Amino acid sequence: MTEHVRVAVIGSGFGGLGAAVRLRREGITDFVVLERADGVGGTWRDNDYPGCACDVPSHLYSFSFAPNPDWPRTFSGQRHIRAYLERVADVFGLRPHLRLGTEVLRMTWDARELRWDIETSAGRYVADVVVSATGPLSEPRIPEVPGLDTFPGKVFHSARWDHGHDLAGQRVAMVGTGASAIQIVPAIQPDVSRLTLFQRTPPWVMPRVDRAISGVERALHRALPVTAQVRRGMLWGIRELQVQAFTKHPNELGFVERIAKRNMARSIKDPALRARLTPDYRIGCKRILLSSTYYPALAQPNVDVVASGLSEVRGSTLVAADGTGTEVDAIVFGTGFRVTDMPIADRVVGANGLTLGESWKGGMEALRGASAAGFPNWMTIIGPNTGLGNSSMILMIESQLNYMADYLRQLEVLGGRAALSARPSAVHAWNRRVQERMRRTVWNTGGCTSWYLDANGRNTTIWPGTPSEFRRATRRVDLAEYEVLRATPVVETGVTQKRAESDGVTA
Ligand SMILES: Cc1cc2nc3c(=O)[nH]c(=O)nc-3n(C[C@H](O)[C@H](O)[C@H](O)COP(=O)(O)OP(=O)(O)OC[C@H]3O[C@@H](n4cnc5c(N)ncnc54)[C@H](O)[C@@H]3O)c2cc1C
Repeated sequence: MTEHVRVAVIGSGFGGLGAAVRLRREGITDFVVLERADGVGGTWRDNDYPGCACDVPSHLYSFSFAPNPDWPRTFSGQRHIRAYLERVADVFGLRPHLRLGTEVLRMTWDARELRWDIETSAGRYVADVVVSATGPLSEPRIPEVPGLDTFPGKVFHSARWDHGHDLAGQRVAMVGTGASAIQIVPAIQPDVSRLTLFQRTPPWVMPRVDRAISGVERALHRALPVTAQVRRGMLWGIRELQVQAFTKHPNELGFVERIAKRNMARSIKDPALRARLTPDYRIGCKRILLSSTYYPALAQPNVDVVASGLSEVRGSTLVAADGTGTEVDAIVFGTGFRVTDMPIADRVVGANGLTLGESWKGGMEALRGASAAGFPNWMTIIGPNTGLGNSSMILMIESQLNYMADYLRQLEVLGGRAALSARPSAVHAWNRRVQERMRRTVWNTGGCTSWYLDANGRNTTIWPGTPSEFRRATRRVDLAEYEVLRATPVVETGVTQKRAESDGVTA
């Protein structure tokens, strides 16, 4: 059986659930949320490794329309964030819309009917509009290490933690030094017999000012919700200023590097280890990590830092690029996600028969981070160049929800069967401006290679401005940037058929 809906949302993380709430608030109830897993939560369902927590304060890393006066800590843990998203699904009446255990396998634009034909693992759907919120960090990436298949012990990725396997007393290799790894290391170091950290590039690590939010603060936020709003506003404002340093004044970040170096020196007394842990690129070029427990853990006698990355596995021996070998019982990959090639893109077939992945083979490109040329009535939440270096992704998601809401309003105003198709010229113009602004940012000038850059070295993930600027750029859909497609009845050889055609409306 085929279910026909006005909107199909894909994914039930912050993006998908936020889209669902917004649709209901816009009075649209004819929609489904297709989710491949058995529960909601996205990132916060999948990443339940020891120590997992957000690194943006909870009062900012949550929806503005669903404040939570009861956040337990300034940086809350995964369990609390996941519970928060479950509550959002309940409070906003999203459960009837959820189709769990439903993986989208392929979606194809039907140019005749102006709608998307969606093939899933649990049946077929037809939707007028697709909102793809499949997440920028949802497909774990394990590097192809020669010989990995010969390893006799346990291997898993940080985002697929095997809770059935006890690491206590084992010799464990942690591969990678990104945001997940620096949370995992201090969480497992006291329990394992030996921890070897394979580090290709050292991160910049700033102290994490994490504390329990007091009962008084929570009571105040409950009694006077405006106080929680003020708190959120201040957190937003502070980060807005920090982003400006990354985007406009990277040369002035030296004093931040000094704070990070002091953070390291407090715990790492061995000068040789300090040297190995000191980055040689500008702070901010890769994501700045927050931890007050990472360096103290690295200083413990059961920890080794191998500063040359993992190059080969020979049975139970892990060989580093510098030739040294370490025998271990388990390998944990904290090696991140497929980011710059958006896995869902290979499953979207647009108006010209090409997949989004094929049309993005030179690099991802979208209009205002949302829509792609040749893919009418399809938009993505956290699309190309919507990532943030160090503020809350929820700010960007909510901006994209404004854009989505206006997109749907515009379609409503157009009336009848209509679709909006991003003009290639508008997409290129937007991306030219984005890349132009990117040139002087720390992500492009800071002297590092990061997961923000694609295979061509182009930064297609980060927004080169402040969240407020993005908010302004996505408040409304500019119809001049779109072609309006209509399904119009035409008469051919005496038979009335439907055909999609452009009515050439430009504003
Ligand atoms: C460990 C970790 C910590 C993070 N901490 C922060 C932080 O502190 N601050 C911050 O701003 N950001 C943080 N992020 C980034 C985080 O991913 C975003 O903030 C946000 O959670 C993304 O939400 P999303 O809904 O776009 O994606 P996700 O939460 O990844 O959700 C995507 C959903 O889509 C589903 N899906 C994917 N493909 C399909 C398919 N084909 N069919 C059906 N369903 C599909 C997935 O199962 C998933 O449920 C962190 C990321 C990680 C991994």
